[in-house]
Formats: sequence, C-alpha cells, structure tokens
Amino acid sequence: MDELRSKLFYEQKNGYDRIDTAEHVAVEEYCRDYMAFLNNSRTEREAVINAIDQARECGFVEYRPGMELHPGMKVYRCNRGKALMLAVIGKQSLGDGCVIAGAHVDSPRLDLKQIPLYETDELCYFRTHYYGGIKKYQWVTIPLELHGVVMLKSGEVVDVTIGRDPDEPRFVITDLLPHLAQDQMKKTLAEGITGEGLHLIIGSIPYADEGKDRVKLAVLSILNDAYGINEEDFLSAELVAVPAFDVCEVGLDRSMIGGYGHDDRVCAYAELKAIFDVKDPERTCVCILADKEETGSDGVSGMQSRAFDTFMEDLCAAQNVELRRCYENSFCLSADVTAAYDPLYPEVSEKRSEAKLNYGMGICKFTGARGKSGTSDASAEVVAYLRRLFDREGVLWQMAELGKVDQGGGGTIAKFMANRNIDTIDAGVPVMSMHAPFELVAKLDCYMTYKGVLAAYSDD
Ligand code: MN
Ligand code: MN
Repeated sequence: MDELRSKLFYEQKNGYDRIDTAEHVAVEEYCRDYMAFLNNSRTEREAVINAIDQARECGFVEYRPGMELHPGMKVYRCNRGKALMLAVIGKQSLGDGCVIAGAHVDSPRLDLKQIPLYETDELCYFRTHYYGGIKKYQWVTIPLELHGVVMLKSGEVVDVTIGRDPDEPRFVITDLLPHLAQDQMKKTLAEGITGEGLHLIIGSIPYADEGKDRVKLAVLSILNDAYGINEEDFLSAELVAVPAFDVCEVGLDRSMIGGYGHDDRVCAYAELKAIFDVKDPERTCVCILADKEETGSDGVSGMQSRAFDTFMEDLCAAQNVELRRCYENSFCLSADVTAAYDPLYPEVSEKRSEAKLNYGMGICKFTGARGKSGTSDASAEVVAYLRRLFDREGVLWQMAELGKVDQGGGGTIAKFMANRNIDTIDAGVPVMSMHAPFELVAKLDCYMTYKGVLAAYSDD
C-alpha cells in the first residue's frame, strides 16, 4: 500500500531534505551577495544603479538604437533611472521568441508630499503620502531613513540619502502611549493610524532669533547647508522614507533573511544573477526590472509602458524580425514574490495550496481576487513545461496560491506581459509579512528562484 501511495499521491518534501552539502553552500553564498544588494538598494533608483554597476562588470554595454547585435552580446537599457531592461542575445533568431524574466524594484514606502515641511508646537515634520499597499500601524515607532532626489529648477540633480550610514540621524513617526490610547485602541487596525497622520519628526531646536516657525527655519538651514536646497525645491523632489533597519539573518539556524524590500528585489536579484550567469544561450534572454508595480504598473516606468516594447522592437529590428512574431513565440517568468503560509495566521490560508518556507520557488498558475478577477492565468501547457524543465534541472519549486478563496488576492506584472501575447507565468520567492517594514524570506527559496530563472534562460 505504501508503494502504491508513493506512486499515486503528490507529496511535497522540505527543501533541506533534498539538497546536498554542496548546494547548501551555494545557497549561503548566493544569499550573502543578495543581502548586500538589498542593503544598498532601498529605492527603485538605487536598485537600478546597483544593477547597472554589476551588469557593466559582467560585460553588459548600454544599448543604443541602431547598434549591431550578434549572439553572445550583452546589452542594457535604462528607463529614466527607475527601470532597467537587459538582454543577452541568443544564437537563434528573435523570431523564435525570447525568454523573459520580469521583476519589479519598487517597494511600499512613504513618499514625502510635494509641500512636506511644517512646524507645529515648536516641532518640525515632513508630511507623507504612502506608496503601495501598507498596514499603516506598522510604520510608526520604527527608525526611518530618507532617500531620493531633488531636481533643481536648473536641471541639476541633488541626491539625498540620510540615515543609511550609522553615523547619520534617522526619523520616526510617533505613536500614542498605551496610557492615553483608550480611544485609539478601540479603532480597527485600518483606522488606528491614518494615512494623513503619517508625519516624520525632523527637528526640535529653534533658530536663534525672533519670529515664527523658528524650528522649520533651523531645519531648512541644515538642509540648505548640506544640499543647497530651499523649501520650494521639494516641489520637484522624489524623497521617500523607508525603514532604517539593515538586512539580517533570522533564526538560530540563520536559515531566513529579514529586511525591507524583499518584494520584489529578491526576485529582481535572482533574475540579475541568472542573466549574468547564463552562458551562450540558444534563445535571447531578457531581464526586466520594472517600476510602479506596487501602484498598478501604470506610468512611463511601469510594465504597461511602451518603453519595454520599444526596447524589444529595437532588438527585433536589428534582426529584421517583427516584434509580434517575437512576442508570440516568447516565454515569460513573471518573477514576483508570493505569500508564504504563516502558521501564526492559519485562518487565511488553505494550507495544502499555499507556498511554504524552504519548499522552493513558488509557482502561481493564477493570481487575482473574487473568482480570479484580474489574473492572466497561465495555461496548463505552460505549467507542464515548467514541471519538465525544473525537475530536469533540479530546481526545487512548489505550486502556490495567495490565501483562501475569497480571502483577498493580489496581482503582478504577469497580466501585462500576457496581454502582449507572451506566454507568462508567475514564479517567485514566498514571503512572510509581505509589505511590512521587515519582510521575511527563506534562503533556500531565494537561491531556488535564481536557479529557476537560470534554468529558463539556459533552456533550448
Ligand atoms: Mn511584488
Ligand atoms: Mn507587492
């Protein structure tokens, strides 16, 4: 009966029961580099800069329209400093399609408003407008750091980073003490902290003079000394507050990684590493690091932007191939994180269908909510292809679904790729506490996601 059972049942195994010592070492090495990348990539702009630096070291050159392309060439195109596309030209024609992996490098955060500064009761604050889906109560009483750019009227760019360096000050949004929180505590988690109330405290010493708004004046003088900016310059600034914790190992066995921005830089890094490591691919490999996924993939740097089609059309033109032919023969891994089953909150999950930590890369055939609404739903044919490929290449993977039916749901860039007539499937790292200031992933799953993307890139 046991024999029959093992022949007929689908049983999953913990990844650590399936990898050998050599692969365990590879997991650790890979994750060490990923942690360094994540620590230095706190915004989409920083992720793109770091990705370009690493790409150049691996021999990638900036693509210029009209450039001649031959097999083995490595090119990249940066979209306005916020999104990046890389390609390794394959031996086959682009008319046979390419292998695409697409992740996003934006993460939930607190954007400063365009008129953010104000003083009240001799304290100075920045007002914010949050970006992406956050649970607001998680963002108070944690250290925050500031990143971004101030574009001056002259066109000059002023880069701002305050709080990443341990010597630098940080910021915080205060919360009520429990002693006086009786009314607040009766509110729901959604209402206890409001979006309009997420203000960072940034100063308290008044300027040594008479008059009003003396703390604000003192704060602005500090900013003016450091960056040469004034209050009006915030109008054309993109400054974001992100958690000021370093990425770190979690657990006595150090098997997990905690940090801000795993969604979706953990998949972005996996793709990058894979496109750096792929050797003489048969089909052209394309890696996308997109922006604006957390707000719906709209806009010039989002996955719905024609910037991607323009890049691909340029590559196709170099081989006299029609873009639509390339698309219809292409395959895309939409590499985005999925929810990991959390034993502390079993009520939202249907355990058997959910991704588990240490079980490998999570494959989502469909996403969406309320009856799969908004999903691209990969075909059974595509899933069968991945089963074949991953099992052959020793990629540990698992089927994943985001929560119980009618519990909620989510979306990724998958549908925007599929809408282009590209066979697409969601695949990525399972995450706990997704969209929290400190998200949790398992090292083994990070490595397997890299291995999965590399297998797709390398397949002929
Ligand atoms: Mn994501
Ligand atoms: Mn997300």
